Amino acid sequence: MNIILFGPPGAGKGTQAELLIKEYSIPHLSTGNIFRAAIKNETPLGVKVKAILDAGELVSDQTVVDLVAEELEDEKYANGAVFDGFPRTVVQAEAFDALLVKKGSQVDAFISLEVPEEELIKRILSRGQGRTDDTEEGIKNRLEVYHNETAPVLAYYKTKGQVKEIDGIGTIDEIFSRIKEALS
Ligand code: ADP
Repeated sequence: MNIILFGPPGAGKGTQAELLIKEYSIPHLSTGNIFRAAIKNETPLGVKVKAILDAGELVSDQTVVDLVAEELEDEKYANGAVFDGFPRTVVQAEAFDALLVKKGSQVDAFISLEVPEEELIKRILSRGQGRTDDTEEGIKNRLEVYHNETAPVLAYYKTKGQVKEIDGIGTIDEIFSRIKEALS
């Protein structure tokens, strides 16, 4: 099963992804986590993307699509994955569709976590993970990039009728129950 977890920065994608991978026994594919690990390990990819992440800008579509295509070669993804942070642009969504078609697979569900903007800023500022992009400036930029580049991805999947809109306000368990219900 391929599940896309979608939503603005701070919507709780990472948290819900962790619960979903346990529930459905499929791996988590977070492009943000892959980039942060690459930066920490100072790999060539990490060196290339560090300044981009710090500024809250998007890594180029080509880099992201190549990365996901390569990652999906791993047989641990044979039964699908929970995609978190990808696709983040319409170009990525189109490339992802083509990639899945080539594998004889498809997106099974698109979960959109809906959280109002004031709440997002509050959450990111209070999560205190020490992420170098969690500055006020970084957050503002990520939200702007989200509106301009990423929100159209929602419209793209809506035309395909795959979108499940989930109220992202509540306790972690409440939100997870809503997701499970939407998937059942
Ligand atoms: P959040 O959505 O909470 O800000 P993520 O962990 O999903 O955090 O992403 C962090 C950063 O990694 C983004 O701001 C961006 O720079 C980069 N990134 C992650 N996924 C993508 C993607 N699919 N396309 C382009 N850049 C990405």
